[in-house]
Amino acid sequence: MMRYQSTRKNYEKVKSSEAIQLGMVPSGGLFVPEDFPRLSEEEVRAMEDESYQEIAYRVLSKFLTDFSEDVLRDVISNSYSGNFDSEEIVPLTRLGDDLNLLELWHGPTAAFKDLALQFMPRLLTRTMEREMVILVATSGDTGKAALEGFKDVEGTTIVVFYPKEGVSELQKLQMVTTGGDNTSVVALEGDFDDCQSGVKEIFGDNDFKSQFSQAFSSANSINWGRLVPQIVYWFSAYSNLMEEGEIKFGDKIDIVVPTGNFGNILSSYYAHKIGLPVENFVCASNENNVLTDFIRTGVYDANRELKKTISPAMDILISSNLERFVFDITGGDAAKVREWYGELAESGKFTIDEGTKGELDGFFYGEYATEGETLETISKVFDKHEYPLDPHTAVGVSCYYKYRKRAGSERSALIASTANPFKFAPSVVNALTGEKEEGAFENLRKLKKITGWPVHRGLRNLKDMEIRHDITSTREDIRETIKEILSKR
Ligand SMILES: *Cc1c(COP(=O)(O)O)cnc(C)c1O
Repeated sequence: MMRYQSTRKNYEKVKSSEAIQLGMVPSGGLFVPEDFPRLSEEEVRAMEDESYQEIAYRVLSKFLTDFSEDVLRDVISNSYSGNFDSEEIVPLTRLGDDLNLLELWHGPTAAFKDLALQFMPRLLTRTMEREMVILVATSGDTGKAALEGFKDVEGTTIVVFYPKEGVSELQKLQMVTTGGDNTSVVALEGDFDDCQSGVKEIFGDNDFKSQFSQAFSSANSINWGRLVPQIVYWFSAYSNLMEEGEIKFGDKIDIVVPTGNFGNILSSYYAHKIGLPVENFVCASNENNVLTDFIRTGVYDANRELKKTISPAMDILISSNLERFVFDITGGDAAKVREWYGELAESGKFTIDEGTKGELDGFFYGEYATEGETLETISKVFDKHEYPLDPHTAVGVSCYYKYRKRAGSERSALIASTANPFKFAPSVVNALTGEKEEGAFENLRKLKKITGWPVHRGLRNLKDMEIRHDITSTREDIRETIKEILSKR
């Protein structure tokens, strides 16, 4: 039985179902596997002929050892079926001879979060011992994906906090039009970091939580249940590259991930840990380049102004999942993690020691793209391939080219394509035409016309949908807000 420990070693070891129900370690810290499993060469090789669902079972059964085979197979087959508009679930698009885009946006809400959030609620309901409140902080995409995943799931209430001025009009509309009797959406006066720290504070506040009969959990990537399904698609993509003859079994690849909270790139690192052949990782940031600096210098310094960019899902200064990564590269040294994360909480800054920094060098690359470079990348790739990149994916592509130059790499690379371009239509249209027009729906129409692509189904009918959520809250009133929502349940 695989058990999960805290990155700060301040909690007992728990089963995967407990880690997922708790969301994060109540006394601070995040759950990570005590030991990592390993897929054999034969297992990875066999994936070439397997469906996404079969690959998912191979990977997930190694981590979710307290679920029976029947339950796991059932949850997987319900999670990855008609709710994705591609039979492959995560199709790989190859442009020219260097861009391999792993399209992670074929789920109901048009961003990669669906891969985890179609799965996690279905898994959670198989183990829930009492009613649950799911608290979510979102920089835009997690919110809608979590709402869709938990909508009308019996025994759950979901409350999403988004930064009032920090999400796009389409993202906001996607969230506030969500149906279901158990969903609430709150506009928080503040930025994403305020949403995230507010939610984390609630998890640590036992007095507050004990007023309610429900248990609290999270649908953010601090929850192991969010992270573990993301490990699957790196294997699926690797087997696609084999199938296409781009690589042969055992060849090492590079992985490029546009990064915010460090969840997606961490899932690729975990895939590598359990057997995926990877040479280098590229952590791609926008102008909020805290992680670029961290990877290059070993200093994590969040003391800077948050910039609003056209890739808002990456407008983050405190990347939660980095704690799991830091724990790993220290060789599981919880004392160091406690020290550094104590400093981060106090002063917004920490510096890793040289030995730990050495684990990153020549293995993890930090790159970032400016707003101008992001727009230019969208335009250039469209001119060359008639393929519209969303701005997050464009950050990834821009950083990929920078990395190739810096590292002199010519290896095959997988680039995570994290959102459908229509989700960020105004910025994409601006990149392609130079025109800057307000109005999300006008931009959806324009992008459709320019590209000939259909509008993603999750965005098609937004205009005619009823607005069902209009709660606002300040960071200070977050407890009152939650209390009021739960009193009406
Ligand atoms: C959430 C998100 C990201 C960042 O992913 P992390 O796991 O938070 O690093 C990048 N792009 C898009 C479109 C997203 O929704």
